[in-house]
Amino acid sequence: MAAFTPWPSTWVPADGDRPAQIGGFDTRSLAAEYGTPVFALDLADLRSRMDAWAAAANEHFAPERGLAGADVFYASKAFTCISMIRLVVERGLCADVASGGELAVALAGGMDPARIGVHGNNKSAEEIAAALDAGVGRIVIDSLGELDLISAAAGERGVTAPIFIRVTTGVHAGANEYIATAHEDQKFGLSLTDGSALAAARRAVELPNLELAGLHQHIGSQISDLEGHAVSTHSLLSLRAEIARETGVLVPDVDLGGGYGITYVDEPTLSPDEVCARMAGVVRAACEVLEVAPPRISFEPGRSIVGPAMVTLYSVGAIKRVTIDDGERSYVAIDGSMGDTVLRPMLYGSVYTADVASREISGPTVRSRIVGKHCESGDIMIRDIDLPEGLERGDLLAIPATGAYGRSMASNYNLLARSPVVAVENGEATLWLRRDTVSDFFAVDPAY
Ligand SMILES: *Cc1c(COP(=O)(O)O)cnc(C)c1O
Repeated sequence: MAAFTPWPSTWVPADGDRPAQIGGFDTRSLAAEYGTPVFALDLADLRSRMDAWAAAANEHFAPERGLAGADVFYASKAFTCISMIRLVVERGLCADVASGGELAVALAGGMDPARIGVHGNNKSAEEIAAALDAGVGRIVIDSLGELDLISAAAGERGVTAPIFIRVTTGVHAGANEYIATAHEDQKFGLSLTDGSALAAARRAVELPNLELAGLHQHIGSQISDLEGHAVSTHSLLSLRAEIARETGVLVPDVDLGGGYGITYVDEPTLSPDEVCARMAGVVRAACEVLEVAPPRISFEPGRSIVGPAMVTLYSVGAIKRVTIDDGERSYVAIDGSMGDTVLRPMLYGSVYTADVASREISGPTVRSRIVGKHCESGDIMIRDIDLPEGLERGDLLAIPATGAYGRSMASNYNLLARSPVVAVENGEATLWLRRDTVSDFFAVDPAY
């Protein structure tokens, strides 16, 4: 079996004096042209991940296999901009949005509103209005009160709102395990076990200007096995059958959510084919037992589409040796981190790896810690890594698997600029998002 690697498909490590390459582009030239830090997006890698999801969903849920088809909704919160949405459209995927801002970008990128799903646990009146005015394909409700708001807003416009209910099934999945609990103590969704999901379905059927169109679950992130997904999906499909008995509406769609894990260092991951094959089996078996027609299925991958497609290039700055209990540690400071990628290590304790991209440095290594340039001692990109003794100021470090929740969670803390995203393919680079400038900071400051 192939080893799991975090590097995108066109990545070529440095060899002697030749710098590492991505998309046929030399990383040193990329850094010279766009500055650092820079998110280098491997376009071929990204496209192939989208295609793998679309192909797997089409194949495993095909009507010839006794199922009703499946859609792939790219979860745009992982990374979005107009060029990204255009590619999502081109590769035949749909898109999820979780705010008015993400909706505006999806529409600006040319996504058919009917192929947009709107999420959010606290949608504003403006966000509901924007979703209805655009005519989105699904609004996933997350609380009972939201049904009344959407019903009223749809009534004012003389339209019918397609409603999905986000259900918490009591199953929460994480990196390597899942937990199943009867009680829900978190902000998302309507509980299956306390009856609020069924109550929401009843209310959605009663209220005017709403169409109960589907059920939804999203049970966790960075999932590396599907046990929790299988258990949760079975519960969700049972609820669908129960709703049909109680209200007469057998909802046509069931959305299984996202959260499929990627390799950050060497963690094993599931391919879209493995995910779709397994979940198709679960859906088929459950619908047979429940004696109901299978629903059309949706998947909402974010991280597993864009995460592995980007590598962030940083310049090495200050290098400091400190004495620790059992020897020495080298503190290697890079020119970003907390404002871009490091938010994930800080929030979730995520672990990344790194490689020198500017040249191949052989010889001994030293125990190192890669830190950022923000005024926080927690601004640590990689806590423990062996780096070459010969690393110098001006070398480039590449950190892979930064495409998801890197640029999208970036901030201007310390008034550092957020980094650009540059798509590279066949030796050509295209700017997808430019770096912030000081003028951008002044543009929002009326006193300027
Ligand atoms: C965040 C989110 C996703 C995507 O999660 P990934 O871990 O990026 O795949 C999908 N659906 C919903 C509802 C989400 O909130």
